[in-house]
Amino acid sequence: MAKWSDMTEPKILKVAVPVPLSGLFDYLPPRGVSDTELRPGCRVQVPFGRKQLVGVLVALETSSALPRSKLRAALQLLETEPVLDADLLALLVWASDYYQHPLGEVIDAALPRLLRQGRSASEMAKYAVATTAGFAADIAGMASRAPRQAELLGRIVGKPDGAALDDLAELDWDWRGALRSLVTKGLCEIQLQSAQGASNEAPPSKHEPGAGNRSELTLTEAQQEAVSTISAGLGAYQAFLLDGVTGSGKTEVYLRVISEVLARGRQALLLVPEIGLTPQLLARFEKRFDVNMAVLHSGLSDTERLAAWRGAASGDARLIIGTRSAVFAPFPDPGIVVIDEEHDGSFKQQDGFRYSARDLGIMRARRLDIPVVLGSATPSLESINNALRNRSKRLRLPERPGSVSHPQVRLLDMRAHASRQGLSTPLIAAISRHLESGGQVLLFLNRRGYAPALFCGACGWVAPCDRCDARMTLHMSSGRLRCHHCGRETGIPAVCGACADELAAVGQGTERMQETLHELFPKVNIARIDRDSTQRKGSMQKMLDDVQSGRTRILIGTQMLTKGHHFPDVTLVAVLNADQGLFGSDFRSNERFAQTLVQVAGRAGRAEKPGEVVIQTSYPEHPLLQRLISEGYGSFAEAALDERRQSRWPPFTHLAMLRAEAPGPEAPRRYLERAARLAKELAASMSSNVVQVLGPAPAPMEKRAGRYRAQLLLQCASRERFQAFLKSWAPELGQLEGARQVRWSLDVDPIELF
Ligand code: ADP
Ligand code: ZN
Ligand code: ZN
Repeated sequence: MAKWSDMTEPKILKVAVPVPLSGLFDYLPPRGVSDTELRPGCRVQVPFGRKQLVGVLVALETSSALPRSKLRAALQLLETEPVLDADLLALLVWASDYYQHPLGEVIDAALPRLLRQGRSASEMAKYAVATTAGFAADIAGMASRAPRQAELLGRIVGKPDGAALDDLAELDWDWRGALRSLVTKGLCEIQLQSAQGASNEAPPSKHEPGAGNRSELTLTEAQQEAVSTISAGLGAYQAFLLDGVTGSGKTEVYLRVISEVLARGRQALLLVPEIGLTPQLLARFEKRFDVNMAVLHSGLSDTERLAAWRGAASGDARLIIGTRSAVFAPFPDPGIVVIDEEHDGSFKQQDGFRYSARDLGIMRARRLDIPVVLGSATPSLESINNALRNRSKRLRLPERPGSVSHPQVRLLDMRAHASRQGLSTPLIAAISRHLESGGQVLLFLNRRGYAPALFCGACGWVAPCDRCDARMTLHMSSGRLRCHHCGRETGIPAVCGACADELAAVGQGTERMQETLHELFPKVNIARIDRDSTQRKGSMQKMLDDVQSGRTRILIGTQMLTKGHHFPDVTLVAVLNADQGLFGSDFRSNERFAQTLVQVAGRAGRAEKPGEVVIQTSYPEHPLLQRLISEGYGSFAEAALDERRQSRWPPFTHLAMLRAEAPGPEAPRRYLERAARLAKELAASMSSNVVQVLGPAPAPMEKRAGRYRAQLLLQCASRERFQAFLKSWAPELGQLEGARQVRWSLDVDPIELF
């Protein structure tokens, strides 16, 4: 029953505001707006301090901790149709809680920038258009009497379609008042028009959704099984782990299942890693489906992003494909969530609101009660563990379609062979052999630049970065020394900085490898693919085209090569320096190393040309390598999970990392010591003392970009208890003494421990 006060007093708006403060802020409704128009998920413009900010209405309540007389009114309700529907808003509230990050900033991460700035969410936007009288008006004459009206009318007359109110919102004076006067005087009127950059650009809706499943392929038995199992599960939450070797046809499975989803009139959301969103992948989906797609990735302009967002929100786009932040895309007709290469690190946001798009994707599917498919040739140990515990259903694609044999993998002991700049004699011979028989060769070296260090043979000096605990990398093509951690650059010193003796480049990067290969195979076209060589727009595509056409015969590259590309004519793949990954300090290093190795090896050949894989190492007896090669990734993963269980690492325990940095080493340490003390007190006061506090300790690379970094690790075996603990600990972190002297951040479920 409504109380008397409910009927007389306006509701209180609980608003999430984009500021780094936790909690919601209370406002009174904007003047002239009734309670029924106020729906959670709508944006409201609010006064905040001396600023005006665009926030999101999260809830309406009847009371506030503050007296009503102290509350300010929201300035404006930006829409009556929520930009965040109830499902998405609930997911964001959950994520804010789980990751201990202010809701305002979580929402900020979920909305395109133009929406955060107040731009209209619908494709129809309000425009102020001049009337005939307005066009005829003497603006110069008006300027002395009503300067603002004159300025505004000038803007409106100056644009052929009139001025979008969204654009006027950027003005920092009361343009609304001036606009009202202009309308009253009959000089302009407000019209609804389709917003620029949205519907104008979007192609007209094509055929029936999902009409064209134009695939000629006959699915393998394993693919068929996967497709029918997932399709049978449409309409309810269930997690599937599609565990299939590279080239086994996982994408084909997604295509078939998505086709089924579209045919049922639902939308599909496909998340891919940062680097997996290639033109080839998009072309494959475009070719298959006669529906509009919304593509969301970090390379879009603000206008393009808003257009894609609107396409997804209106339901015009039936297929939404995107990288990490697309997990927050509008999804009004949810049918399925697919996460391709689910093991990929780029699904984790590493600054600000540190979320895992994979985990949120699963959570979103669960809340929407639709299936989620996680695909990978090298699933994360978390996902394998979930499958082993029946939290997800594992579907295996163990073979490439039509394949007769697996690539042959060989370890080359670098201690036993002569080598030239990192290329062993047997590898050089293998490259010649493959080139002669018409194959292509792919060489993986995860180090860009010419050489990782510039070294003085006389005194041992190595060119350091002044701002980091790191060495400068030599880049010959640009003639610079560069720090890969902070971006600092200098010229190349002529002589040693300590003893003025001569300097030598030690070790190999991709640039130097390309040079050596060119000396060895002068007639062969060699492409280098790394972050330096692909900076210009289109250069990556050009190089990939040359590989496809066969013009390029040798490819040398970093991690960039290992994702999202198939090179069907590559018959030899070589990992030039496996030792780089063998002795990592992080508990995940083994997993990452195994994934990289298997992913690189998977680039080789197609079914009828299985190819050869060569791994150069100085530790061929290393058990990790041995196991991977003789028994494969699945067996490695099970052994690695056992180790994790014994040493109590995730997924058997849960972690949170508090990081702090400052210009000096003392402040971060002292701040983290206080945070650790508080954590221990809280843990002790909880029903059972289950949270372990490890550290603080300096980060493995303590100094970076001129700042000293330290970290505190928290560990707990129970997710629920850990969440309860974090809920009371995290809000105190900003209040601790010394918090203002450091830059600190909390990372729940960190994937890197540095
Ligand atoms: P993945 O995503 O597992 O790497 P893809 O779906 O990209 O594998 O398939 C690899 C290649 O095999 C593609 O060229 C694809 O067209 C082809 N392919 C997939 N399924 C089949 C099939 N059932 N029969 C023949 N070729 C197939
Ligand atoms: Zn540096
Ligand atoms: Zn020297």
